[in-house]
Amino acid sequence: MSMEETVKESPGTEAEPADESTERATAPGHGDRPPRRATERETLKTAESPASKDEMPPADDMTPFEAVNYQFDCAARRLDLPHNLQVALKTPFREVMVEVPLANEDGSIRTFHGYRVQHNNARGPMKGGLRYHPDVDLDEARALASLMTWKTAVVDIPYGGGKGGIDVDPRELTKTEKERITRTFVDRIHQFIGPNEDIPAPDVNTDAQVMAWIVDEYSKFEGFTPAVVTGKPLEVGGSPGRESATGRGVSAITARAAADHGIDLDGARVAVQGFGNVGSWSARFLADQGARIVAVSDVDGGVFDGDGLDVDRLMEITGAGDSVTTVEGAEPISNDDLLTLDVDILVPAALGGVLHRWNARNVRARLVVEGANAPTTPAADALLEERGVTVVPDILANAGGVTVSYFEWVQNLQQFRWTEEKVDEELVAIMSRAYDAVRDTAAEHRTSLRTAAFMVAIQRVAKAVQVRGV
Ligand code: NAD
Repeated sequence: MSMEETVKESPGTEAEPADESTERATAPGHGDRPPRRATERETLKTAESPASKDEMPPADDMTPFEAVNYQFDCAARRLDLPHNLQVALKTPFREVMVEVPLANEDGSIRTFHGYRVQHNNARGPMKGGLRYHPDVDLDEARALASLMTWKTAVVDIPYGGGKGGIDVDPRELTKTEKERITRTFVDRIHQFIGPNEDIPAPDVNTDAQVMAWIVDEYSKFEGFTPAVVTGKPLEVGGSPGRESATGRGVSAITARAAADHGIDLDGARVAVQGFGNVGSWSARFLADQGARIVAVSDVDGGVFDGDGLDVDRLMEITGAGDSVTTVEGAEPISNDDLLTLDVDILVPAALGGVLHRWNARNVRARLVVEGANAPTTPAADALLEERGVTVVPDILANAGGVTVSYFEWVQNLQQFRWTEEKVDEELVAIMSRAYDAVRDTAAEHRTSLRTAAFMVAIQRVAKAVQVRGV
């Protein structure tokens, strides 16, 4: 569906559903209806359509790539970029899709699809995570690769954007099978990645172990090359501080935004959706600053305690492979209800699209800090803004991970190890500078933090494209 077609479904102009409870059952994230997937032609059309001069209200059934391009357009309109440059900036540089077969014990074969989208390399090699999840597809990879281009530019590190993954549910794989599909994927994309080309990293359901397998497999083709990925174990060139980096960045940015909005972090009530890498470390560092983490969740559900949950205990439980829902002495809460709790700060840190037009009106937090990538649809964004809820966008809030990935890559290239203190200190300095740039741009242009973050990023990438030439 094109942007022009989606205009008809503006949340500001449409009639409310006759029966919201029945509509909810089919709304995104609420059950039966699978997320709409656009054809390739449809999603690329959004890259080809330069920002219109007219304000286009957002619909809620955009694909992930359409949604990122909508956000791009909101910023590009304010920057008055030439149309041809807008199209060049939105269009992915390269897209790779490969078959990833897995032979079962009984001789049968399961076939998955592996993707790597390389969005832009004007400011440096492309950089971004690898996700193992059944919903992974080309459109999602395009969207997340594009977000990485803008994210690396917001924090001003010398990278472009890339993203990829395999459409597999790792819960259905043994560890050996996970290793085998990782190696097969690398065998088939190794010529497209590398320390000066494209540097993958962990994302949903991938971790340091997966990165170690990638180093090993890639090194069979190119010689020992730890800098081909980041987020590695320390033993093969990982950086101290990388595992907790995204959460540390989320908490640093939350502290700055809370202060700007008159919220005292000491005692502030915080709900965190998702208790994986990003959610758990965000909760830990926010609790260290005095925040009360009243609710957390994972794929199995959530838990609530108005007096504050014991984050260390929760990390012990998840570290042992169990769900947060097994913690003693807390009330159960659903993932949906967690998002609309009466809290000061909400940190969505699981999957994309969880805040949408069906629940945005019910969000009671004053500040939403996007730990996850793309957790807020453009329609929800508009509703939250209308209601005075400040959203700190993903490309700023969760950039701590890629920032320490940059430090890891630098250490690999220099063959020199930094201390954890140096990593943490440099991370907070970079995040703080990025926050200042985005906040000041938002104030100057009287716009949201998201549009301001895109404006800062687009200007940097546009200048690089223009000086390099095409
Ligand atoms: P992870 O796999 O470590 O954790 C994901 C968490 O989300 C788990 O607790 C899982 O149980 C939960 N979850 C999965 N499906 C869910 C569902 N349907 N409802 C509720 N919870 C669900 O992944 P992560 O690395 O923490 O990534 C989380 C998000 O943060 C993703 O959007 C990712 O792209 C983004 N991100 C990650 C990093 C990083 O450094 N890991 C950096 C930037 C952004």
